[in-house]
Amino acid sequence: MSKVHILVFPYPAQGHILALLDLTHHLALGGLTITIIITPKNLPILNPLLSTHPNTIQTLILPFPSHPNIPAGAENLREVGNTGNYPFINALSKLQQPIIQWFTTHPNPPVALISDFFLGWTHQLATQLSIPRIAFHGVGALLTAVLNRCFRNPTTFQSKEVADFPGIPGTPSFRRDHLPTVFLRYRESEPESELVRESLVANAASWGSIFNTFRALEGPVLDHVRAESGCQRVFAVGPLGSDRVDANPDGGSGVLRWLDQWVEDEGSVLYVCFGSQKLMRKEQMEALAFGLERSGCRFIWVVKEAFTAEEGYGKVPEGFENRVAGRGIVVKGWVPQVAILGHRVVGGFLSHCGWNSVMEAMVAGTVIVGWPMEADQFVNARLLVEELGVAVRACEGADSVPDPDELGRVISRVMGVDSPQKERAELMRGEAVKAMSEGGSSSKELDQLVEALLQLGVKEE
Ligand code: UDP
Repeated sequence: MSKVHILVFPYPAQGHILALLDLTHHLALGGLTITIIITPKNLPILNPLLSTHPNTIQTLILPFPSHPNIPAGAENLREVGNTGNYPFINALSKLQQPIIQWFTTHPNPPVALISDFFLGWTHQLATQLSIPRIAFHGVGALLTAVLNRCFRNPTTFQSKEVADFPGIPGTPSFRRDHLPTVFLRYRESEPESELVRESLVANAASWGSIFNTFRALEGPVLDHVRAESGCQRVFAVGPLGSDRVDANPDGGSGVLRWLDQWVEDEGSVLYVCFGSQKLMRKEQMEALAFGLERSGCRFIWVVKEAFTAEEGYGKVPEGFENRVAGRGIVVKGWVPQVAILGHRVVGGFLSHCGWNSVMEAMVAGTVIVGWPMEADQFVNARLLVEELGVAVRACEGADSVPDPDELGRVISRVMGVDSPQKERAELMRGEAVKAMSEGGSSSKELDQLVEALLQLGVKEE
């Protein structure tokens, strides 16, 4: 067993952490010894991984640094919502000293640091430790290309109504409010903002970059990112985690049984879910309900429960479930998304276009009916709709209310047997599976990554 030791530092948000943990699993299988930096309350997320690799994966548990804008006890972004990113990135940067202390007293210190791209400040940490830092992007390469541009020249991009990105493959352009939220929150000269900007800019200077994407999906953008950053080591190893088997959550098996009844009718069901945390207003819930009703399609609609008592949030209109009984169900809470998308009767996905959902849809070959709302979702939707043709847009914006008739029409058109998007999604499924299979692009790049890390250990000896 190799003693080459790697340090892994995930960012504590659902959308970031799972893919990096899946990568860590592959690195352990490749023969590396790994320490994961984690704060106490996030430790349970690591349990499955730690029990699979009891001898090769350890943890470095550090207390979550306090921050005036983070409620005491909150250690995961889920507990505060997306507005917590700036405080979280800043709070976690306080871990620099404890990490250095641990490192300098370790008998076999790590030879490299792999950290989430939101933790770009670790570039400086790695420099102090004299080890290479590798940025992990659990997101699309197009997002990285766009963010690099925005943060290098923030005032220009914040002052324009429409931001153009000449030179990025596909020459995308976005309305200002559709730029990534992490950029829109930036305020020049504000210390917390400056740390975030420096962090994201530092990613381009890292020793290497890993992306949860694959060549057939984003080859030209990956080449662009490599050329622009000058970093020769770009590894596209996705889709990561798409073989995840969820612990059976509330109602999960019931949903799968419900799907089984349509087994003769492959691809006929639309799965509706807006990620792990998005809640909708009353008007949005109503428009969506009527749109689904008018589409005439079979569907599963996953509704997240409101934490606040605000009127109508997360509530399905009265009588709706009865009206659609027999062809549609509403499920409250958490469902096993990977298993649902993988079910052969599910052919479409009404989604906010979060990157994990996108990857899971690619592997399952489901067409996406997109409703991007925030974060990287507008950028992802652009890739899916304009570049790849595997999706259509049904609505845009976190506060928008779709026209139910139009929504119903879009859904029934895309779900139809001769929809070109469905055909493209099926082609992309083949590419995703090929990328991950032996000899496929992602599988090869993962091997190259493991090899490069093992080599770093050899140099040490
Ligand atoms: N997910 C799930 N069940 C749910 C809702 C979400 O398994 O009921 C998973 C989904 O499979 C995906 C992740 O949660 O892996 C959501 O990540 P994504 O990037 O799509 O959206 P975010 O939650 O970050 O907005």
